[in-house]
Amino acid sequence: MYARFNRLYFANQLPRRVAIVIRRYRLAMAITEFCAPGEQPTIGIHAELLARGWENVLAMTLLHEMVHIDIMIKHGARENHGRKFQKRMLDLARAGAFSPYW
Ligand SMILES: [Zn+2]
Repeated sequence: MYARFNRLYFANQLPRRVAIVIRRYRLAMAITEFCAPGEQPTIGIHAELLARGWENVLAMTLLHEMVHIDIMIKHGARENHGRKFQKRMLDLARAGAFSPYW
């Protein structure tokens, strides 16, 4: 799923390899750890998304986390859900990235 989204919506500009770890968070469905350009990103996914088989939620969550990676690589620091993040999410929505899932 990561490789397909990278090809379709990020022009393969995100790192080819990513570490996916399964965790349980109290207040998040997923968390991307900060990564600098050239580093392998780590995305933590809440175990419940997998346990419940919520593929649509998982896909949308992964796209969200991939935008965090995109912003970190291009702008050097995590700006969380600020203007650059919002613009990139809207670009993805216009490109149809979320259409199969909502
Ligand atoms: Zn986020």
